[in-house]
Amino acid sequence: MRYLILSDIHSNWEALEAVLADAANRYDEIVCCGDIVGYGADPNASIVWVRDHAATIVRGNHDRAATGTDDIEWFNPAARAATLWTQSKLTAANLSYLKNLPRGPLAGDGFQVAHGSPLDEDDYIVTPGQAAQLYGYLASSVTFFGHSHLQGGFLLRRSGTQPVGQVPASREEMEIRIPDDSTALVNPGSVGQPRDGDPRAAYALYSPEEKLIRYRRVHYDLETAQGKIINSGLPDVLAYRLSLGS
Ligand code: ZN
Repeated sequence: MRYLILSDIHSNWEALEAVLADAANRYDEIVCCGDIVGYGADPNASIVWVRDHAATIVRGNHDRAATGTDDIEWFNPAARAATLWTQSKLTAANLSYLKNLPRGPLAGDGFQVAHGSPLDEDDYIVTPGQAAQLYGYLASSVTFFGHSHLQGGFLLRRSGTQPVGQVPASREEMEIRIPDDSTALVNPGSVGQPRDGDPRAAYALYSPEEKLIRYRRVHYDLETAQGKIINSGLPDVLAYRLSLGS
């Protein structure tokens, strides 16, 4: 079994399309680490696609917020505006799908899936120190997570924690083989709103047989995604930040 690992699509249909074209024929099953919606202009199309194709998925904080059950006072103004906009656009079926998404972590076949941290879906794992604290608490040798929109993750072993970087700007792919003595925290990066300085859509492929993660970056039709955001009445800043990857 080969897996396509997606996270933080954030209603960016053009980015999702580019990722799927790029990953074509390289996977058997799809895993999604949450945040299908929020920020972008295509919440319904994104949800319908994920609903029909993802085999394993956990909810993200923006999926939860879009159902209207969360207090979004702590969201920044643009995120809050996008949440209210998304709430107003969701079809009844898609709202119900988001409401029923499971909270992470969720066990897959030899891996687990979380949105933020496996200990708390809203926690960010960004620093090696934060990752190291999870050593001994991870239920699986491979954990996929998102939330930070930073591609990479960490290899944890008794002797220390090794950060995994992102695909270099000059390349499209970076391979990491998970050593036998290590537990891996793998962030595929954000499909629809990267924040690691690289505006290309991010994702990962996982081959358990080879214990191999292939991180990838792919260009997408940024201008169309930005135009939809601006024309839909979402805050302009959500369009501009896509070109910065921040
Ligand atoms: Zn997110």
